[in-house]
Amino acid sequence: MTDDSARGLAPSTRAVTTGRPAAEPGAPVNPPIVMSSTYHAGGAPEYGREGNPTWWAFEEAVADLEGAAGALCFASGIAAIDAVLDLVPAGGVVVAPAHPYSNTRARLHELHTGGRIVLREYVAGPDADIAEALEGAHLLWVESPTNPLLQVSDVVALARHAKACGALTAVDSTFSSPYCAQPLTWGADIVVHSATKYIAGHSDLLMGVLAAKDADLLAALKFRRVMNGSVSSPFEAWLALRGVRTLAVRMERHLANAAVIAERLREHPKVDSVRWPGFADHPGHALALATTGPCAIVGFEAGTPEQAEAICQATTLWTHATSIGGVESLIERRARYAFEHPDLPPSLIRLSVGIEDADDLWHDLDGAIDRCVP
Ligand SMILES: *Cc1c(COP(=O)(O)O)cnc(C)c1O
Repeated sequence: MTDDSARGLAPSTRAVTTGRPAAEPGAPVNPPIVMSSTYHAGGAPEYGREGNPTWWAFEEAVADLEGAAGALCFASGIAAIDAVLDLVPAGGVVVAPAHPYSNTRARLHELHTGGRIVLREYVAGPDADIAEALEGAHLLWVESPTNPLLQVSDVVALARHAKACGALTAVDSTFSSPYCAQPLTWGADIVVHSATKYIAGHSDLLMGVLAAKDADLLAALKFRRVMNGSVSSPFEAWLALRGVRTLAVRMERHLANAAVIAERLREHPKVDSVRWPGFADHPGHALALATTGPCAIVGFEAGTPEQAEAICQATTLWTHATSIGGVESLIERRARYAFEHPDLPPSLIRLSVGIEDADDLWHDLDGAIDRCVP
């Protein structure tokens, strides 16, 4: 790690300066893409499943932004999540939100049903009650804000509680990005990201990354990556690091645009409800401001499920596609998936607000709502 964080530099500066080759005459300013499966014996790495110099540059940058001892990249966000769940001993208790990212939920339920773990669910939010569930638990899973309901939890309080019970706390911080939130500095043991989303930021690769403060924990997680082989390509790590360089300016624009869209949606006569942690009356507003930032994902409900679906198909600047966190704005009705939680409002539309012009985005969305909802 560079010592920039020790010098108190701001995240936007560190996102640009970390993960660079040593400054020597003639050395490249950016890390090379090292395409090699094996290495001359006697050094590190010896083999490409253990490590890669291009991964290291990306991992150094994420560790720096998260205030971690180290970071590890994975083939996808879900691979990083699975590496964390792999740490739970057979039959161990995992306490997790009832409405997390759909595939996190699917994986937890699969492990629970198969007898590999015991799953105890809690309702995420500022008053999340985990006291009883944590008894004898090994791992507390936190997602804040949650995908797609945007529930914001008190990571500091949850992590303190888990620690007192001897459980590890892992936080899926994908919706915040390392620009808005640093869960490790608030007491979490592990922070996980789908780097596919804001970190890489251009919807052109899949990647996961996790970071931790404890060296033994990192070593155990690294061993999981060696064992399950969920490694990313050096090219993708290089692209993701390129994404980190602009994370701060992208996030600032994402957040500013989300505020415009959320506020105008709220004024729209055909819109029934808007979810956005930036609203003063959102239950997680104070926590969001204190921790995760107001969030660049916006949820809203308008019309019947069929009309909501029609809105998603009627926009032209907003691309009707899943995923979040890229420069382009995306729109999707989550309940169209059979695997999503049955509790999701059927007309709920999730917006991943991109970095285009806010007025252009609004006119496109406003027109689609007007055409599709009578
Ligand atoms: C997308 C997402 C994931 C999964 O990441 P992949 O890179 O698609 O495997 C996990 N958590 C959250 C909150 C996500 O949005």
